[in-house]
Parts: sequence; structure tokens; C-alpha cells
Amino acid sequence: MPMKKIGIVGGGLLGRLSSWRLLRAGCDVTLFEAGSLQVCPGAARTAAAMISPLSEVVDSERLIYDMGMAGLKLWPAWNQQLGQPITYSEQGSLVVAHTQDASQLTQFAAKLRHHIGDAGDASYQWLDQKQIAEIERDLSHFHRALYLHTEACLDNHALLDQLLSDIHALGGHTFEYTPAVEVSSHKVQTEDQRFTFDEVIDCRGVGAKPDIHDVRGVRGEVLWVQTREVQLQRPVRFMHPRYKLYVVPKPNHQFIIGATEIESEDLSPISLRSNLELSSALYALNPAFAEARITATDVNLRPSLMDNLPRIERCKGLLRANGLYRHGYLLAPTVVETIVNEVLDNASAPYSEQIMIKEPALC
Ligand SMILES: Cc1cc2nc3c(=O)[nH]c(=O)nc-3n(C[C@H](O)[C@H](O)[C@H](O)COP(=O)(O)OP(=O)(O)OC[C@H]3O[C@@H](n4cnc5c(N)ncnc54)[C@H](O)[C@@H]3O)c2cc1C
Repeated sequence: MPMKKIGIVGGGLLGRLSSWRLLRAGCDVTLFEAGSLQVCPGAARTAAAMISPLSEVVDSERLIYDMGMAGLKLWPAWNQQLGQPITYSEQGSLVVAHTQDASQLTQFAAKLRHHIGDAGDASYQWLDQKQIAEIERDLSHFHRALYLHTEACLDNHALLDQLLSDIHALGGHTFEYTPAVEVSSHKVQTEDQRFTFDEVIDCRGVGAKPDIHDVRGVRGEVLWVQTREVQLQRPVRFMHPRYKLYVVPKPNHQFIIGATEIESEDLSPISLRSNLELSSALYALNPAFAEARITATDVNLRPSLMDNLPRIERCKGLLRANGLYRHGYLLAPTVVETIVNEVLDNASAPYSEQIMIKEPALC
């Protein structure tokens, strides 16, 4: 069978993963990115990259949990298939609250049970102060925590770099600083060239607004801090009546602190208020963070659809994948598997019925 020619628009999370999987399957892939491919301008780079189906289902739908659990199975295998595996941590995550806010933890567990029923019982465990100290010494001042032992996280900066390197090693063609001005069935039009493909895959995230009527960006702000005074082995979510915060350990004694969630498409730098709230919550988590150095701040837009669920629109010669919202790393493996199976005419991937719409009117 002749090699399929695939054009992929958007070099963020979905675009890179889809390019890599399709190249591995023997396709001829061309990837277009509006900005730099070295430093991805998409949400993919700003993300904390937690893979947390339990924490996320608490405020979303059961589908997010089911697809996320499937993603948790795929990530380790995919990591081993990369030219150089990246740091993928499977040490679970912790949810903590100070004693006066203990009801927040109880409520979190109740919501978890509500969404996933008995499956939840096996997925989390209550820890007392001694047990917390055994796994996270620097959180030993908390009296109670929920331990979500199946959750994971990965080094997304390393992943994005490695995917680009693998795409090139597998013979993929890439164009950076090349925004597509038209993305349609079999066609990608850039400012000065027209390309034709067997299939076009639209992975522009918020950039797909001209063609997907309900795409919106949801602003998220994060802080990066560095300190040797605190050590964490796993992501920690801190429940507080005023603000919710997560802290995810990153290489070189760094931590990413996030994230605000604001219904705005403003990409200007982090506000003083958000910085204060994230910093205050971090200090309340452990005062030893006080001398941490703020090494960076970042802002990006989560590509989201009306229902905050993922969707693939499919018509002849074109797939538009979008709506990964705050769940990109969680859902990407199952979304990409669906794209790849569709492009290769393989049997449908497990969640294609729930997330794929064939021949929508506006495709
Ligand atoms: C603060 C924050 C924290 C997050 N934390 C997590 C987390 O812990 N776990 C998790 O699972 N998810 C998280 N996410 C969500 C995750 O980052 C997104 O869901 C994911 O990146 C979406 O992937 P995407 O490929 O659809 O879009 P993106 O990653 O945004 O990529 C879209 C790409 O398309 C390019 N593009 C746009 N228009 C064009 C055009 N016309 N031509 C060519 N290229 C174009 C853009 O430049 C961009 O590179 C977080 C997001 C944010 C903002």
C-alpha cells in the first residue's frame, strides 16, 4: 500500500504526538507550527503535566476518568518507545488540607466516590500523620491526607523536545514560524504555499477558532520556584477554602505551582493577584518555601470546548481534534490513538464513539 501523506497543523501536544505515532506507523508526515518548535508556544509547554484521572474527575465527567485511566496505561509503553525515555513518575499524588479545613478533604473523597463509585475505594487511601511523614517528610505537619496512588506525572519539556527529535529522526518534515491560514479537507494553505495531503489533522488548539465554532481559551497562570529547602516526590494538591493549588516537583529542585483558571483569552503576564494567591498558598503548604526563588512565571490558554470535553470532528480528508482543556496529558494518548486508528483505517479505538463526530455540518 502506498505511504499515506499526512499534514498536521499545530506543533503542541496533540500535533507532536500524532506526528510521532503516524511516522512510526509508516506515514509520510509534515508538521506545521505557527511559532517555534524548539520552545513550544502552546499550552503543552506551560502545563504541569500531571496525569491525574482521580483528581480531575472530581470536577468533571466520568469520561475524563475512563479515558485518563486508559492514558495511564499507554504512557509508560509510549515512553519506552521514544528515542530516549523521559522522566515519567508513577508515585501517585497527595491531597492535603490543614486540620481546620479537613472538611475539604472529606468532600473531595465524597465527590470521587460519587463519580466513580466503588472503583474509587481501591484507588485512594487515607493517610495519617505518620504515614504522610513516611512518604513526604516535608509534609509531616499535616494530620490527614488522601493518597491517590495510581496517578502519575511526566517531564513535559523533555517530552516535547524528545518528540521533536524523534519526528526528525523518523523522517518527518517540519515547518516552524509557518502559520496555516487555511486548514481544510486534504489542504493546508500557509502564507505563501499550498500543500495537498491524503489526510489533514488540525491540532491548532485555541488557534482553530476560525473553524471550530465553540473553541475558547481558558487562561492559566503558573509560577516556577526553585529551592533545596523542600523536597517532594510527587504532585501535591492543597485544599484551601480560598484557593486550590498544586505543586509538582520538576528537575533541578524546581517546582511548578499552579494554576489559576480564568475565563479569559488574555495572554498578558501573570497578575499580581494571581502571583500573591499562588505564593500565599505555597507558603501555607510549607513555610520553608519562603526563601524559594521564583525562576519563571508562565501564562497560556487551555483549548476548551463548550462542554469542556475532547472532540474529534471527522470529514473526508480532515480531522479536527480539540477541547483537551485542563486534561491534555491525561487524555492525549486515547485521543491520539483514536486519530491514528481513523487515519490508518484500523478498528476504532476504545473511546472513538464518545469523542468522534463524523461529517459535522461545519467540518
Ligand atoms: C497552566 C496550565 C496547566 C496545565 N496542566 C495540565 C496538567 O497538569 N495535566 C494535563 O493533562 N493537562 C494540563 N494542561 C492542559 C494541556 O496543556 C492542554 O490540554 C494541551 O496542551 C492541549 O494540547 P493541544 O495540542 O490541543 O494544544 P496546544 O498544546 O496549545 O498546541 C497547539 C499548537 O498549535 C499551534 N498553532 C495555533 N494556530 C496555528 C496555526 N494557524 N498554524 C500552525 N500552528 C498553529 C500553537 O502555536 C500551538 O503550538 C494545562 C494547561 C495549562 C495552560
